Amino acid sequence: MKTRKFCPKCGQALTKSSTEGYAFQCLTCDEDFYEIEAICKEEKLTLDDVKEEYHKSDVCMGETLALIPADSLSLEEAFQLYIEAMKWAEGDRFYKSENDEPPQEI
Ligand SMILES: [Zn+2]
Repeated sequence: MKTRKFCPKCGQALTKSSTEGYAFQCLTCDEDFYEIEAICKEEKLTLDDVKEEYHKSDVCMGETLALIPADSLSLEEAFQLYIEAMKWAEGDRFYKSENDEPPQEI
């Protein structure tokens, strides 16, 4: 899983520092930070990450999804991603039905 470094002051993503001795810089605060000062966060899982994992593995999408941790996502986001991934890989279709109305594809 990809991780990114974030500014300990403002929370913005850091870029590589051009100042010798420092690892990262925050363009927002205009400050340089050492490696240990930066906050390390997992990047939000995206459909592209899922596709990448899927291509690397030789199991079906359902199993691939079961193996990928979705710690960086809320349950709602994970659910959306699951639907998108299954639509993309398996051609699955999803329907929702509210208040006894006819099912609508989502
Ligand atoms: Zn900053």
